[in-house]
Amino acid sequence: MQIYKVGGAVRDRLLGKPVTDIDWVVVGATTEEMLAKGFRPVGADFPVFLHPKSGEEYALARTERKSGRGYGGFTFHASPEVTLEEDLIRRDLTINAMAEDDQQNLTDPYHGQRDLEERILRHVSPAFAEDPLRVLRVARFAARYAELGFKVAPETLELMRQLSESGELEALTAERSWKEIFRALMEDQPQVFIQVLRDCGALKVLMPEVDALFGVPQPEAHHPEIDSGIHTLSVLEQSALHKQPLTVRWACLLHDLGKGLTPEEEWPRHIAHEHKGLKLIKAVNERFKAPKDCQELALLVGQYHTHGHRALELKASTLLELLQSFDVYRRPQRFEEFIVACEMDARGRKGLEQRSYPQADYLRGAANVARGVAVQPLLEKGFKGPELGEALKRERLKALKVYKESAAS
Ligand code: ATP
Ligand code: MG
Repeated sequence: MQIYKVGGAVRDRLLGKPVTDIDWVVVGATTEEMLAKGFRPVGADFPVFLHPKSGEEYALARTERKSGRGYGGFTFHASPEVTLEEDLIRRDLTINAMAEDDQQNLTDPYHGQRDLEERILRHVSPAFAEDPLRVLRVARFAARYAELGFKVAPETLELMRQLSESGELEALTAERSWKEIFRALMEDQPQVFIQVLRDCGALKVLMPEVDALFGVPQPEAHHPEIDSGIHTLSVLEQSALHKQPLTVRWACLLHDLGKGLTPEEEWPRHIAHEHKGLKLIKAVNERFKAPKDCQELALLVGQYHTHGHRALELKASTLLELLQSFDVYRRPQRFEEFIVACEMDARGRKGLEQRSYPQADYLRGAANVARGVAVQPLLEKGFKGPELGEALKRERLKALKVYKESAAS
């Protein structure tokens, strides 16, 4: 049997990038031979094995054929006769379809190295269209390598467009899509992921609520970039520039969905978009089964981001309601994520990226003040149950009034 390094490991070595996980392909072997060498099978009927020591993935060279909709609709054929070239042709991009032996001799039948040099993301063969997940993968690679100047080849974008129009994207499971989405959001330029999905018509299918923001104007005085979709991309870009966690990036992407629902007569104003957007945020959350903390933050940021921006003008009672809604006493981290999401929103405006955001520290201070109100003296006064809760609220409100006045002076 011959063993080759394939996929990302080869690509990233040639790019001079750090290689994290290595995938291997094995040519000329049978399942029985792999088992005899101590490899552990990954699934009962899939020709992929884990190395007994390194735990890295070793796949038998295989060919694939589409036999139905979605990912379940694949039949594959692995046997010792399948050649390396046959295995590589079923891969998504030419830059991912190179193999290397232990002497670093490159097998590159589909010119991945040339495309690496020319910074092109190009599909290997028309079989690309057999797995709609590849649309998301290409968009993710575009985001990851945008910094290096990579672009999607026009003919690949065209195939992605056909896939998006064919209805195949709908056959993707939430789990497979989310895995690509969250990895893409964690790249340095996640906005490129959304932009590429939009360019090929996939955004309209996957997240029509986000797609609908493009072409919707906002008041120029607050939003020099005007377009709500452009604004959303900028907010996402800022969240990555500031190394925010996934929860914040997800919330940034979804915070303004309500603006897509505003009747044209009301443009460029978006009255109550925070509230109107909630059902859309919920729909996107559920469509991809986003993790609970992502779902929760997206809804809270959607509902309250304008409060964040107006923090310094809020009445003490409104400020208290905000803090209560976030349960800042037990969930300090979530409120901090809300604050930075608001800041990213403010910075995601053309020409205002560097402007300071005093609301952030003001909100942090308010949360500390509310948290600082001690329960003990109230217990000592004999408050219990719901009365204790009310008394605590009154004390917090008092403290916030003092805080607000001192901040104003
Ligand atoms: P990463 O650095 O994100 O791990 P990778 O290229 O190694 O990038 P993997 O998901 O680990 O990506 O897959 C390994 C290889 O398997 C890819 O380089 C590609 O050749 C192939 N591959 C993975 N998923 C698909 C797919 N859906 N369609 C076609 N080829 C795929
Ligand atoms: Mg990999």
